[in-house]
Amino acid sequence: MARGPDPSRRALLFGRRAAVAPLRPPWALHENDFLDACTACGACVDRCPERVLARDAGGRPVFDPRLGECTFCGECEHACTPRALDRASSDEPWTLKALVADSCLPRRGVVCSSCRDVCPERAIAFPLTARVPLPTIDPARCTGCGACVGVCPTQAIALSACAAHPERTETA
Ligand code: SF4
Ligand code: SF4
Ligand code: SF4
Repeated sequence: MARGPDPSRRALLFGRRAAVAPLRPPWALHENDFLDACTACGACVDRCPERVLARDAGGRPVFDPRLGECTFCGECEHACTPRALDRASSDEPWTLKALVADSCLPRRGVVCSSCRDVCPERAIAFPLTARVPLPTIDPARCTGCGACVGVCPTQAIALSACAAHPERTETA
């Protein structure tokens, strides 16, 4: 089954309010299928060694990249007995990629590279094309792990579904 569409992450990133479908853990089914399958047991949340899963108002899990990085260890998927998280449903854990908004400090003339320093995939570069280099994110390298989100001092980074897979958009 496909993963859950949700265009709202980008909307949140750029300040617009929209109906928000939460960012589910990796390997989550499409949102509607996920809601049918998930029993809100919390096993995935309890099992996550990085403590990056929280519960939504209904008790179901959400990935909060402000809490840290998903390492794609697979513990949450293993813990999901109802198979609302199911690695067999897709080769990819999700289609998320990081996006940088205008509140990024270098875009305001202030030197910063906190996001680059924590990216495990070396997906963030600062080409020397401006007086204050600006971050660029290579979508081919970015896994949507979220490590860069929480370290940004201006909360300029959010995760959005890969444009190549709009039918599988996810948000947080
Ligand atoms: S894959 Fe691992 S780190 Fe990522 S949410 Fe699941 S348990 Fe946590
Ligand atoms: S950490 Fe945030 S403010 Fe700093 S360069 Fe990266 S996106 Fe911009
Ligand atoms: S979300 Fe992408 S750019 Fe950010 S730290 Fe992870 S791999 Fe790097």
